[in-house]
Amino acid sequence: MRTTVGIVGAGPAGLLLARLLDNEGVDSVVLESRDRAYVEQRQRAGILEQGTVDVLRDAGAGDRMDREGLRHDGIELRFGRRRHRIDLPALTGGRSVTVYAQTEVCKDLIALRLEGGGPLLFGARALAVEGAETDRPRVRYLHEGREELLECDYVVGCDGFRGVSREVFPPGAGRVFERTYPFAWLGILADVPPSHDELVYARHDRGFALLSMRSPTVSRLYLQVPGGTDVRAWSDGRIWDELERRLETDDDWRLRRGPVTAKSVTPMRSHVHEPMRHGRLFLAGDAAHIVPPTGAKGLNLAVGDVVTFARALAHLRGTGSAERLDAYSATCLRRVWQAERFSYEMTALLHRDPGATPFEDRIQLARLERITGSRPAEQDLAEGYAGFPLE
Ligand SMILES: Cc1cc2nc3c(=O)[nH]c(=O)nc-3n(C[C@H](O)[C@H](O)[C@H](O)COP(=O)(O)OP(=O)(O)OC[C@H]3O[C@@H](n4cnc5c(N)ncnc54)[C@H](O)[C@@H]3O)c2cc1C
Repeated sequence: MRTTVGIVGAGPAGLLLARLLDNEGVDSVVLESRDRAYVEQRQRAGILEQGTVDVLRDAGAGDRMDREGLRHDGIELRFGRRRHRIDLPALTGGRSVTVYAQTEVCKDLIALRLEGGGPLLFGARALAVEGAETDRPRVRYLHEGREELLECDYVVGCDGFRGVSREVFPPGAGRVFERTYPFAWLGILADVPPSHDELVYARHDRGFALLSMRSPTVSRLYLQVPGGTDVRAWSDGRIWDELERRLETDDDWRLRRGPVTAKSVTPMRSHVHEPMRHGRLFLAGDAAHIVPPTGAKGLNLAVGDVVTFARALAHLRGTGSAERLDAYSATCLRRVWQAERFSYEMTALLHRDPGATPFEDRIQLARLERITGSRPAEQDLAEGYAGFPLE
């Protein structure tokens, strides 16, 4: 098979890129190792920055998001049993975020791709990207028991943290910057209306807790737990009790409990692969970078990468200049590092580091006091949360 852009992976990065290219009249083929149901049900991100919402709308993929997504104009910081609201539009010149699950973004993009007849192959596992240094890169993949070859002008590796695209970089051609954290997130989905109408980020002596939501009837909640925690050690009752303790306030706020429908543990990691391009292979999304989920940035960064690629390719086709494609890695990395910094700082601000000294605990509380007591400090957090602009 032959195409202009070979896309490895049908997560948010690969699916949105396919849509953006369709809109530009550029042909592409998407290879996805899992089946459709798996991709549509994998529980992950839920917060879309204003910039991501705008991109989805402009791409013609925002109809259901506009109907069903929940616009949020604030988040709440909770510590010392007190509550502090961060007013996003007031602090950022009008920007907000939208609660709309990654599963729904993927469903919408898959439906659009299949309606338009563009090739999207489920159960197609890329084995290797070859010839990235030539002008005819190829993806070798396995589909329906047969090994096949996809010949391309460009390959975009959207195959997530555990994909194969990064393997293209020969030894010494790439560098990894990484940090792992000694804690993880235990996340649940529960069939109960959210106990607050905005997200609540809570710092507590027992560890971090997050109250989030998927819809007006489905809550998403997280607890900081030690790295390597076995989810089976946490009964539903124990999870609710712990959430209640960490989210407690001095006023009459109460946590609503309900049936837990999903439960999982996610490790926390910061990871950046530089550069994000080798020859005609471009990395996008989690294939190139991971952030701890505290800042809700992962999906939004993936969107930024593929928009940058699609615009650069359109520029090449329109003007004959490869300048923007050549600048792809540097352009993406500027935004990536701002998001890495923000996610790292939010994580440090709100989590209980098991190795922290009493002095460091007090510094953490002083940081929170500073943010809630100073408009510039609050503004800095709000700007990071609402998202860094695309160049
Ligand atoms: C619990 C959790 C909560 C999160 N919360 C947020 C949040 O609130 N906001 C936010 O912005 N981000 C959040 N994230 C991060 C976000 O989910 C990811 O950043 C996002 O999924 C990245 O999209 P992607 O398309 O780059 O990669 P992925 O979604 O990982 O997609 C990669 C795709 O490639 C496929 N693939 C892998 N290898 C191959 C192969 N060899 N051949 C073919 N296909 C392959 C995979 O099956 C997958 O479908 C969260 C993540 C987790 C785990």
